[in-house]
Amino acid sequence: MKARIIAIDGPAASGKSTLAENLASALDYLYFDTGVMYRAVTLAALKSGTPVMDESAVTAIANELDLDVQSPSIDDGRQCDVLMAGKDVTWEIRSPAVDENVSQVSMYPGVREAMTRRQREIGLRGAVVMAGRDIGTVVLPEAELKIYLDASVEARANRRYEESLGRGNSVNVDVILEGMRERDRLDSTRALAPLRPAEDAVIIDSTELSIHEVLEKVLALAEDVSQQGEA
Ligand code: C5P
Repeated sequence: MKARIIAIDGPAASGKSTLAENLASALDYLYFDTGVMYRAVTLAALKSGTPVMDESAVTAIANELDLDVQSPSIDDGRQCDVLMAGKDVTWEIRSPAVDENVSQVSMYPGVREAMTRRQREIGLRGAVVMAGRDIGTVVLPEAELKIYLDASVEARANRRYEESLGRGNSVNVDVILEGMRERDRLDSTRALAPLRPAEDAVIIDSTELSIHEVLEKVLALAEDVSQQGEA
C-alpha cells in the first residue's frame, strides 16, 4: 500500500525539509513545512513590538495570522513563497531574531492549537508530505508513514552554516551551534507536543547519509508501507 499521508519530524537542519520537498515532488504530493507557520507567528510578534513572553498577545496574533504559502515565484533557493498579509517574508522568517524566539512562541498551547487545526485540515486531504516536530505524534497520528530524521548537532549546525554562507550572510558556526542546542532543548522538553519520534516512526540518522540515500530509503517505504518493519 502506498502512503497517502506522510509525516516527517526531526530537529532543526536534520534534512527534513529537503527530504520532504524531494519526496513530495517524486510522489506528486503537496509539501507542507509547518515550521513556517510558527516562524510567521514569531515574526509577526517581533514586528508589532509584542514581547514574545506575552502569551495572550502572541496567542491572539496566532489566531489572526494572515498567512499564505505558495509555489516559489523566485529562483533563489526558496522552497516556497511565504506571504504574511500579502507581503513576501520568505527570508525574513529565517532571520536570527526569529530563530532565537520561535521556540518560546511555539510553546504556547493557544498558538499550537491554532496551528495544529490548520495543519490537520490540510493534512487530512491526503497526498501530502508534512514536515515539523509533532506531525507523527500530534498533528497527524493517522499518517501511514512516519519518519523521524535525526543527525548529530554538529552536522546540523554545519549544514545551517553552509546554507547561510550560500545566501551571502556572515555567520559564526559556534553561534549557530549554540543556538541550535538551545532550540533542541526547548523543543524537546516543552510540556505540549515535544519533539520526539512517534512510537511507530521509522528513525533515520542522516549524519553519514547523502540526501539521495535518505530519499531512496524513504521513497521505497512510501511506495509500500508494508516494508516498514524491515527499514
Ligand atoms: O522546522 P523549523 O526549524 O523551521 O521550525 C522552527 C521552530 O518552530 C522549531 O524550532 C519549533 O520551535 C517550532 N515548530 C514546532 N512544531 C512544528 C514545527 C516547528 O513547534 N510542527
